[in-house]
Amino acid sequence: MLPGEQSLPEVIVSPDGHVVNNLFLYRCKQSDQALARQVNEDFMSLQIYWFKNRRQQLVCPRCSSLNLIRKGWRNRVLMSSRGRLRLKVLQSRCKVCGRTFRPFNGWAGIPSSRRFLEELVEKAVTLGTQFSFSRSAKTLKLLTSGAISPEGIRRKVADDANRISLPQSTAAQTVLVDATKVKAGRKQRGEPVYLAVTAERGPQKHGRPTCIKNLIHLHVGDAAPVKKRLQAIRPDYLVHDGGENLTDCAKNVQRCRWHLTHQLKHYLWQDQVPHALRPAFQKRVRSILADRMKGPSRYKRFTDNLMALGYEKTASHLHGAANEAFTYVKEQGFTYIDTSPLEREMRELNRRADIGSRWSPKGLENVLKVLFHRRLNNRSKGQT
Ligand SMILES: [Zn+2]
Repeated sequence: MLPGEQSLPEVIVSPDGHVVNNLFLYRCKQSDQALARQVNEDFMSLQIYWFKNRRQQLVCPRCSSLNLIRKGWRNRVLMSSRGRLRLKVLQSRCKVCGRTFRPFNGWAGIPSSRRFLEELVEKAVTLGTQFSFSRSAKTLKLLTSGAISPEGIRRKVADDANRISLPQSTAAQTVLVDATKVKAGRKQRGEPVYLAVTAERGPQKHGRPTCIKNLIHLHVGDAAPVKKRLQAIRPDYLVHDGGENLTDCAKNVQRCRWHLTHQLKHYLWQDQVPHALRPAFQKRVRSILADRMKGPSRYKRFTDNLMALGYEKTASHLHGAANEAFTYVKEQGFTYIDTSPLEREMRELNRRADIGSRWSPKGLENVLKVLFHRRLNNRSKGQT
C-alpha cells in the first residue's frame, strides 16, 4: 500500500479500473453522514435557543401552565433523500401536572406522524404522478439515498390530492370541458374522466402562440360532479365536447367546433352514408361553422336537407347542437371556440392512465388531480 492510500478503505484502490468512481461513492456516503450530523447539531441549537427565547409562547398542552422545564432529548429518525436523519428532539415537562411533551414538533414541521422529510415526499409524489408507484419507488431508491414503498407513495399522492383546492372563480374566462374513457372501475368499458380548465391566450413564445390553462375540475366517474361544479362556478363562457348537456352550466355555452365536425362521421356511418362521401359532409359543416355572417341560416338549411335525404341521425346530431353552434358570434368573450388546448392535456392524461391494468376510480383520480394541478396551476413547481 502506498503512503497516500492509507486513509482510504482498500476496496477503493482495488485494481478494477474504477478508482475515481469508488472514491466518489465513498465520499458521498461520508458527506451524507456529515450532513446528517450537522443538521442534527443545528436543530439542537435551534431548539435550545427557542426554549430560552420563546418561553412565554410555550404552554402545557394538558393544563395550560407556563411553568415548564427542559427534560432531556428524544430520538427521532426521519428519512431524507440523503439518507436517514437522526435528530434529537427537545422534551419539556410541566411542573404543575407532570406532563412530558415535545414543544417544538409543530414549529419544526415534524409532527410525530411524520416519517419522511417533505423534500423526499415531494420527489416521491412527483415520480408517482409520472409512472407506476412501484417504478416510482424503485426510481426514488436508485436516484436518492432515501426510500418510500410503493404503497407509501400511493398514500402520499392521495394525501396531496386531498389537500388540493382548485380555483373557485372563473370570471370572464373561457372554460373548456372534455372527457375521455379510462380503464378504471368495474365496467368493462371503463369510466370517463372529466377535465375542466380555464384557457387564456398567453404571450408568444419562439414565435408561437401559447395558452395559459388552469385546472378547475377533474374527476373519474359520471357527469354529475362536473355539472354540479360548473353550476356552482357558473362560468361566463363554456366550450364543451357535446358529450353531456351542459346548457344550464354557464352563461354562454359554445359547442366545440372540432368535436361537432368530428362526431359527424359516426352519425353518417349510422345513416349508412358511404365512407368515401363522409369527408365532404364534414368539410361542409366545418365551413358553415366558420361562417360568422350566414353560418346560422346555412346550418339550418343544411340540417333540413340532411333530414330530407333521410339522414336522420346526422340531422338530429346537428339539430341538437344548433343552439350552441354559433354562440361565439353573438358573444365576443370566448378565447377559444374549440377544446383543442385540452388535447395535449388529454394525451398526458391517457399516458399516465394507461398502465395495462385496471385502476380504482379514486386512485386514478388522485394521481391525475395531483398531476394536472401541478402541471397547470402550480407553474413554478410542476410545469413540464
Ligand atoms: Zn401541565
